[in-house]
Amino acid sequence: MTVSNMAGRVIAIDGPAGAGKSTVGRALAHRLSLDYLDTGAMYRAVAFAALRRGIPVTDHERVAELAEALEMDVSEAGVVVDGQDATAAIRTREVTDAVSAVAANSPVREELRARQRRWADEHGGGVIEGRDIGSVVFPDALLKLFVTASPRTRAERRVGEIGGDVDEVESSIAERDRRDMSRQDGPLRAADGAYVVDTTGLGVDDVVDHVISLLDDQ
Ligand code: C5P
Repeated sequence: MTVSNMAGRVIAIDGPAGAGKSTVGRALAHRLSLDYLDTGAMYRAVAFAALRRGIPVTDHERVAELAEALEMDVSEAGVVVDGQDATAAIRTREVTDAVSAVAANSPVREELRARQRRWADEHGGGVIEGRDIGSVVFPDALLKLFVTASPRTRAERRVGEIGGDVDEVESSIAERDRRDMSRQDGPLRAADGAYVVDTTGLGVDDVVDHVISLLDDQ
């Protein structure tokens, strides 16, 4: 089957940090018996591997070469980089601070987008989450969602998951969103035809039920 056919079975989820994309995406994938791909983990894996090799993330050429050659496996079971489990290591503060520079690197984006399209081809579509999935990677997705929540809610959720101070986390995710929205290549935005889903004050099941109803209307 071709990649473009696969797009017919892709549910694309984009949105800012901490909006609940992963929680909703995983739950939705289970309800629909589709596989799930967290593309943010792919950008984090490249940032992690660069830091580990001592390659400055601002050295776009070397980071692009690294991305093209890097062995990584991102699945619901976890993230393996260079043959080693990096599931927790890609979530550290150091990697989070480094990832925006990697995500602004166009050759890296091209490489990861190609891997994402291949993944969809091999998995018969799936629920795919990131920042440019509906806008760039799968513009013909079956359903495009832009999942968001108030900045305070997003910070509180992050603190619930990884700890820290709410004010500090709120300003750090605001800064990351600003960088994600202002980059040239694949900036964070709601794709044409995307449904905006605000998860503020909603539970996962409520959001998933709402998304399933959108899917039924397709
Ligand atoms: O989703 P998560 O917060 O783990 O993503 C980490 C970073 O990866 C984002 O802040 C963004 O810079 C980048 N990213 C991206 N495009 C995607 C997914 C993630 O630029 N499709």
